[in-house]
Amino acid sequence: MASNKNLLLLPGDGIGPEVMHEVRRLIDWMDRRRHVSFNLGEDYVGGAAIDATGVPITDAVVEKARAADAVLFGSVGGPQWDSHGFDKRPELAILTLRRELGLFANLRPAIVLDPLVGASTLKPEVVKGLDIMIVREATGGIYFGEPRGIETLPDGQQRGFNTESYSTHEIERVARVAFDLAAKRQGRVCSVEKANVMESGLLWRQVVTALAAREYPNIALTHMYADNCAMQLVRNPRQFDVIVTGNLFGDLLSDLASMLTGSLGMLPSATLGAVDAGGRRHALYEPIHGSAPDIAGKGIANPLAQILSFAMLLRYSFDMDEDATMIERACTSVLASGLRTTDVMAPGCAKVGTHVMGEAVIRELDKQAA
Ligand code: NAD
Repeated sequence: MASNKNLLLLPGDGIGPEVMHEVRRLIDWMDRRRHVSFNLGEDYVGGAAIDATGVPITDAVVEKARAADAVLFGSVGGPQWDSHGFDKRPELAILTLRRELGLFANLRPAIVLDPLVGASTLKPEVVKGLDIMIVREATGGIYFGEPRGIETLPDGQQRGFNTESYSTHEIERVARVAFDLAAKRQGRVCSVEKANVMESGLLWRQVVTALAAREYPNIALTHMYADNCAMQLVRNPRQFDVIVTGNLFGDLLSDLASMLTGSLGMLPSATLGAVDAGGRRHALYEPIHGSAPDIAGKGIANPLAQILSFAMLLRYSFDMDEDATMIERACTSVLASGLRTTDVMAPGCAKVGTHVMGEAVIRELDKQAA
């Protein structure tokens, strides 16, 4: 049967291909056991693309990504490409895809799975059961605002400057993503800015408030200053359901929230574009970790962040909630059974490599599907 699910895999560098391999096995399993098939494409990005083509991502790969329903990205980068100029860094691959596909909403779940509650640096009673979603605006704000630069002043000193700027349209489209997500979760959104000291923050607050009143009367909307939000995330993170914020604050707060879970090898993410007239939206899914050159090729990388990124892809790009939940449950069960990769190793657990961990997830899925 022909599939209408066009999926592009971009494994990248370092541990990227190793952990992507485990997703391929999962895709084969879904084909066999769930009768779900994908039109799969695969290509080079990052350092692998530089070696093969001279650039971090070719126009042809960008076009393949544009044509796909979803992109599953591994990770890019490594010391062998560090000496390349700024315009030839492997990391440009991901920035190019975000720009070209208009991926403006970065979704970072921070979930503490019960078996890993001890991995957090916070007390178990503070993080047990944590499940929050941070929605970060990813293509605007101070990282992209103009004017920007470094200038020399008349007295010979230099001045570096950037511009924080958000338009109504940019705020509304990312807030809509947050409200829509909250509607499928606990129905609560906390919008975060610095309306007390920044005009862009004041506009942000006004626009989000008006949008909620106009289109989302059933969502409980609160507002919080970014500095307080950082504090609250550490003090009592479970008070949040969905947090929506701009690029700069989102960058910091999403990293902070990720680390509440204590395990980089476990964390997926998604970046979404706008829904077009045909109801289609570009979307890219990737683990938040990098290419981990220190462990690449050793077969010890944790594949769960990549596998959980695939679960997010099923949920948000293909509305396959049931399959996504099955995969998430399988990952939790494997960890609860005591199998651990080095990064999440705990006393009394059995240390396993990438392949055994991937295999264990598939065995769990077999049990669930039986
Ligand atoms: P990193 O996330 O690659 O690694 C940080 C540490 O975490 C390392 O000790 C690594 O071994 C460990 N780690 C990461 N993922 C793991 C996993 N799945 N299982 C077990 N351990 C894991 O970050 P870094 O070392 O700062 O960066 C390495 C390279 O990755 C750099 O070139 C950087 O630019 C790139 N990078 C790419 C992305 C991306 O592709 N989106 C994101 C971050 C960093």
